[in-house]
Amino acid sequence: MDLRSFNTFALNGKAREIHSATSRDELVSLWQMAKSKNLPALLLGEGSNVLFVNNFDGIVILNRITGLTITQSPHEWFVHVGAGENWHQLIVELMERGIHGMENLALIPGTVGAAPIQNTGAYGVEMKDVCNYVDVVDLDRGEQHRLSAFDCKFSYRDSIFKHELRNDYAIVSVGFKLNKLWKPILTYRDLATLDVEVVTPKKLFETVCGIRRSKLPDPAKIGNAGSFFKASTVAKEFADQIKDRYPDCPEYHQIDGTVKIAAGWMIDRCNLKGSRFGGAAVHDEHAVVLVNKNNATGEDIVNLASFIHKAVLDEFGVSLEPEVRFIGTNGEMNAIEAIRRRESSSIQCTS
Ligand code: NAP
Repeated sequence: MDLRSFNTFALNGKAREIHSATSRDELVSLWQMAKSKNLPALLLGEGSNVLFVNNFDGIVILNRITGLTITQSPHEWFVHVGAGENWHQLIVELMERGIHGMENLALIPGTVGAAPIQNTGAYGVEMKDVCNYVDVVDLDRGEQHRLSAFDCKFSYRDSIFKHELRNDYAIVSVGFKLNKLWKPILTYRDLATLDVEVVTPKKLFETVCGIRRSKLPDPAKIGNAGSFFKASTVAKEFADQIKDRYPDCPEYHQIDGTVKIAAGWMIDRCNLKGSRFGGAAVHDEHAVVLVNKNNATGEDIVNLASFIHKAVLDEFGVSLEPEVRFIGTNGEMNAIEAIRRRESSSIQCTS
């Protein structure tokens, strides 16, 4: 079956079977059906953070569990949401009900259930800041467990769901905790024009949506999976050496003393905007985004990523880490290994 409409890169991969699960029990039985056929199973939301490198020789299970329940205490809103709900629509729905705190995360593609996996974040707010708990089902046993936000081990674009709970568990619902006293987070440069004293949640929401629409390609028009690489975190001494060579390098100092450097900035400094490999290209506006320009294959995108990885490593000594998850014939593969393997074959891109 064709995977094209199930990944925002709009790649033409194939899977043996694709099924939707609208309940926890359906998820479990589809998973066990795949196991009984000795086939790999892949859980997917809206496919906004995956790269199908090849055809997937297994069963894709689309998490389509819906539902929204809202309760409150004197100071907080408690929001319980099915994992298959659309992330942006949730924010819109909450705003309409006067529940705020997620405006910075507006317009991020994907489902609610995908957000905890990589601790989705934008403009100074991350999933970990709004998460109360995550409900998972153990797909082998059919048992449900609740993890507190602390249990989820959230860190930069990372969580327990990429490690200990990466296999054999599915997120079925997410609980959010939002303070009734709304405080705008305007620390990112793009939001600095807003006045903290007068800004409203709606204004912040509209500003974030406006910025994203102006900078990021719409997956409905050109296939992409948002930021392809994570920002890199390096030691201060290392960042200082980069700063000596590139005084304009934007640096973001972390509380642990390390320094975050934007992947897109490094790729741009390597003059790679617009570079192409086959049907894949580095987006002209935003270098951290790779796009499916013209019937790209998964291999085209990995090769382009590999070329970028090598260029940035040679210029800055920084090894970029993909944020997008790579799916091979039998399931998720090690993205950085896939990229490095192709580096040895001297890939050439066109500009
Ligand atoms: P940007 O605001 O210039 O951010 C570029 C990079 O610099 C990001 O990695 C961001 O870190 C970092 N950064 C910028 N200002 C920072 C600050 N005040 N403190 C700490 N780090 C800072 O431009 P952008 O690339 O359009 O991104 C805007 C926001 O949307 C960012 O938060 C970005 O991560 C997010 N975004 C996410 C995706 C995705 O697919 N996950 C796609 C596009 C944009 P952070 O990544 O930690 O924010």
